[in-house]
Amino acid sequence: MSGIRPTGFLHLGNYFGAVRNYVRMQEEFECYFMVADLHSLTTHPDTKELKTNVHRVLSENIACGLDPDRVALFCQSHVYETAELYLYLNMLAYKGELEKTVTFKDKVRQHPENVNAGLLTYPVLQTADIILHRASYVPVGKDQEQHLEMARTFANRFNHRYGDVFPEPQAFNYGDELVKVPSLDGAGKMSKSENQYATLYLSDNDKLIMDKVKKAKTDSGPTEPNSPKPEIIQNVFSLMKLVSGQDVIDKFETDYNNCTIRYGDMKKQLGEDMVKFIGPIREKAESIRNNPAYLKEVMEKGAEKARKSAAATMELVREAIGLNYF
Ligand code: ADP
Repeated sequence: MSGIRPTGFLHLGNYFGAVRNYVRMQEEFECYFMVADLHSLTTHPDTKELKTNVHRVLSENIACGLDPDRVALFCQSHVYETAELYLYLNMLAYKGELEKTVTFKDKVRQHPENVNAGLLTYPVLQTADIILHRASYVPVGKDQEQHLEMARTFANRFNHRYGDVFPEPQAFNYGDELVKVPSLDGAGKMSKSENQYATLYLSDNDKLIMDKVKKAKTDSGPTEPNSPKPEIIQNVFSLMKLVSGQDVIDKFETDYNNCTIRYGDMKKQLGEDMVKFIGPIREKAESIRNNPAYLKEVMEKGAEKARKSAAATMELVREAIGLNYF
């Protein structure tokens, strides 16, 4: 189970942190993937663009290889049970621990004019999304690690108080560790709503990709052979590892270690490899986005599957809490 907020176009971080794992997991597991439209209301109260953004996220997920016939691909707001479980979990979540959440503190800094209760209880809603399907594995990027820890805490607290209903959810990735795709300006991570020029979107055209990569932050190059890489240089190598062939990476590693590296050449190569990677996804997503009837069908089918699973869990939840008076 996992979700992505419909707050803009998907980017490389969403792909490598999340969607790539979704696509592999669908071969192995019963999967629930959602467009987290309710979550987006905590930071994006203006809903004018919401429908377009929901269509975008769905199209891009499908273009990346997610098969709506194999998984439940749905919209969070179509599964009303989420709100009920969120309510019960809110009584098990303490103000102090919610206030300590790093993402909450970040959002307060970014939007001091809109510190709403939904923002504070974001990790509770996220827990409800996950455990509503009694999910064990949650494919997410590194930035979600703390939220997953909180989801485990809330699920365990429920089990402890009312009896074992939920498995312990854990963050999942096919690699050794959770992924963080760095932004091109060396400041933080690629993101849907911030750092737009330092983020590569799956919708960017070839020229824009080349331009953005060309402007990626580098320095004047190493002066001592085999020196450790500064973070901004490590970031460029990390991006290259996502999309370039091993021979290409090896060449630039050798050049770096010999102090003969030319970052202009490296960025040109990286830009071309990014274009090759992003181009086909962009084109496929565009054609899916132009078919709203198909997207409606996908959402309806997805909601039906998700509601079935949610209804079964909520029977157990109400019974465990003791809300069964009939
Ligand atoms: P954003 O932060 O771009 O708005 P979301 O909060 O909707 O994205 O996150 C959707 C998924 O993408 C989550 O699993 C999150 O961990 C992952 N993700 C977002 N940005 C990155 C990144 N730069 N690197 C790795 N994973 C990321």
